Amino acid sequence: MRSIPLHTRMLIGFVVGAGLGLLANFLFADAAWLDVTVRYVADPVGQVFLRLLFMLVVPLVFSALVLGVVEIGDPRSLGRIGGKTLVFILVVTSIAVTIGLICVNVLQPGRGLPPEVGQALLAETSQRAAQIAGAREGLSGMDLLINIVPRNPVASAANGDLIGVMFFSLMFGIAAAVLRTEGTHTFVKSVQGIYDICLKLIGWVIALAPYAVAALLFSITAKLGLDVLVQLARFVGTVVLALSIHFFVVFPLLVKVVGKMSPLAFFRAAQPAILTAFSTSSSSATLPTTLKVAEENLGVPRRVARFVCTLGATANMNGTALFEGVTVLFLAQFFGVELSLVQQVTILVLCILGGIGAAGVPGGSLPVIAMILVMFGIPAEGIGLILGVDRFLDMCRTCVNVTGDLVGAVVIGQGEPEHLAEAA
Ligand code: ASP
Repeated sequence: MRSIPLHTRMLIGFVVGAGLGLLANFLFADAAWLDVTVRYVADPVGQVFLRLLFMLVVPLVFSALVLGVVEIGDPRSLGRIGGKTLVFILVVTSIAVTIGLICVNVLQPGRGLPPEVGQALLAETSQRAAQIAGAREGLSGMDLLINIVPRNPVASAANGDLIGVMFFSLMFGIAAAVLRTEGTHTFVKSVQGIYDICLKLIGWVIALAPYAVAALLFSITAKLGLDVLVQLARFVGTVVLALSIHFFVVFPLLVKVVGKMSPLAFFRAAQPAILTAFSTSSSSATLPTTLKVAEENLGVPRRVARFVCTLGATANMNGTALFEGVTVLFLAQFFGVELSLVQQVTILVLCILGGIGAAGVPGGSLPVIAMILVMFGIPAEGIGLILGVDRFLDMCRTCVNVTGDLVGAVVIGQGEPEHLAEAA
């Protein structure tokens, strides 16, 4: 079994889980044993997997954000270029998430299940989530804004308040970047250690995904039958469409207008990095190729390429942020959770930060998505639904992530005097 690649095992998990679930739904829909199997076998396996993902969110998001900010704010790593990179990341990621949110609102891929079914699932799967949703319903836009600042960061972490954790991490990172003492250096090194450990743990958790996929898909298809798969196909279509718009419209425009380069020449030069991203599903694993492409094929000054691509591999994730937004809204539609405009804007902000906070490894965005779902009262079990098709979407969004880093390198390198390259 070990010799079969992980993504193939995930696909097998998907087919086995969905196949058995559908069979059970057709043949034994009302059988008591089916209920028992779902409740005592499939659900617990899925739950353990989801809990492992949740377990990693706080240390991962904290360490990724602190490291990202420290790197941008480090005067030695080119303060001015750092500033430009930050603006690039924030603006282009916002565009990506907005495209995703527009597509999912227009196409409504999650609608279609009768509302009672969605509500029943919602009540059944996540009482806690529903409570949180209830507690948030009464909040006005102003309250949401004030609540960005946590009263107590430990309480935010304990209550799953991701915005509070993110705000605290950003502040911490800024202070650590400004204060350059031996103590802060040691601290940043330890945070790097935490980040590396989190990456290792994610690898282990994702290795369990094939079993979780089978379990989570079995329980949902056994309950809902074929409709779920139709919904899933619509979800895949929406993600691919939104990613394509960003890839084929936004990137070429940026390259042409701001980077002053022919988009065709850009894509031709970027090809090795795009192909590596597609086959590894990991921005971090693609980094050596990205650097080579930026310096040698695209002629970006060395210091700019180094800085933008290295930072971008973990912090500039257009595809991931877009995917997070589409997934959260799709699952909200699927479970019949209504989200107001203010809530959608909050999701937009969370996804932009989520793109920075996610790790550049296969499935790196899953912990962040799980956490955002819970924040809005959407059952995290929904992750099980998308896991089965996640590998393919991961390949596509990683291409967008890596291409985004190269676009950033070209755009930021454009205004830089050549002597910077020589000074490196
Ligand atoms: N696999 C993505 C990357 O490495 C992260 C993710 O969205 O899961 O860029």
